[in-house]
Amino acid sequence: MSVEHLEKQPATSISDYEGILVVVEHRGGTAKKVSWQLLGQGRRMADKLGAPLMALVIGHQVKHLAQEAVVFGADHVYICDNESLNDYRTKPYSRVCLDVFAQAKPEIVLFGATATGRDLAGAIATHLPTGLTADCTALDVEPQPSRILLASRPAFSEKMMATILCKKYRPQMATARPGVFQALQRDDTRTGNVIHVPFHDHYGETATRVIDFITEVNSINLEEADIIIAGGRGLGGPEVFGLLQELADALDGTVGASRAAVDAGWVMHERQIGQTGQTVRPKLIIAAGISGAVQFTVGMQHADMIIAINKDPEAPIFQIAHYGIVGDLFKVLPEIIAEAKKRRGLA
Ligand SMILES: Cc1cc2nc3c(=O)[nH]c(=O)nc-3n(C[C@H](O)[C@H](O)[C@H](O)COP(=O)(O)OP(=O)(O)OC[C@H]3O[C@@H](n4cnc5c(N)ncnc54)[C@H](O)[C@@H]3O)c2cc1C
Repeated sequence: MSVEHLEKQPATSISDYEGILVVVEHRGGTAKKVSWQLLGQGRRMADKLGAPLMALVIGHQVKHLAQEAVVFGADHVYICDNESLNDYRTKPYSRVCLDVFAQAKPEIVLFGATATGRDLAGAIATHLPTGLTADCTALDVEPQPSRILLASRPAFSEKMMATILCKKYRPQMATARPGVFQALQRDDTRTGNVIHVPFHDHYGETATRVIDFITEVNSINLEEADIIIAGGRGLGGPEVFGLLQELADALDGTVGASRAAVDAGWVMHERQIGQTGQTVRPKLIIAAGISGAVQFTVGMQHADMIIAINKDPEAPIFQIAHYGIVGDLFKVLPEIIAEAKKRRGLA
């Protein structure tokens, strides 16, 4: 969309737009956690604005997701359910979104900053005379009268936070990182409106089709992990990550790392937690040999429980840990592994 085109758009129709809409992402009918996290933050912002919270579910045999969106905070759920929408493809999904946005007129639209969410939001933004703030780590709204979305994200090589505003055009759109926001407690007594969006044949007209999905056997999904065992420079080398993996296996967890461990080449970048890595929100994270620099903690501080193992009692990680073990990880970890295996009947 050129700047010239943007300037031609009238700014007077802003008041026609109301409410916050979250595009629900799923794989094979299982929602990505980020969808419910965005509904949680969307609920808080919608209440501040006195506006409805909407969700959009696209796919095949996904009616249960519409109900789940209500349980996690949505007032109205738009659903387009058709065999042609079984697999995510950019064009069909963006056509459905554009039609729903035209009908629902949300003032704010949120997507997960996942591979799919980024692709979809970017494609939609090229069709709308508005902007898109990508990869946000904080979202808020100014209340009446401006009702402006405050979309914040790291900028300038992550050295500062920028808050980006879209003052003149609607909807205001953003993608937000998984793990940053807290989902609401599910409330099965909540009720909401489900609006069926008719499927039009042209939605499915596209040159691409999905032939197969090949799942990587060792794919790492820190964002969705409930238990993370993370290691840092204190491990002293790559081989000690084997100990972390042993504990992760005993607890059905996933191994994560600080940037120091990644930069040293001990583990792949996809395991990195923090400002320039993944933002995680597990039920439990064990941080071993990690000092607790702010660039690391910003990516994991919202875990339900943080256990830190560090030989330095002054390590900053202890300031955010729920439980701290001051000691040598080479002695502590084997004991925890042995106990975990015993309790799970693996010893
Ligand atoms: C722009 C920018 C972005 C960044 N992004 C990230 C990011 O995304 N993620 C990230 O992690 N960092 C990031 N960093 C780097 C960050 O500032 C820290 O340098 C890094 O987190 C340190 O990693 P660490 O805690 O593993 O290592 P250290 O800070 O060196 O800490 C090692 C810890 O191990 C402990 N230790 C040593 N031996 C033992 C032992 N035997 N038993 C128990 N404890 C032991 C030590 O007491 C120490 O506390 C970023 C920096 C910048 C400038």
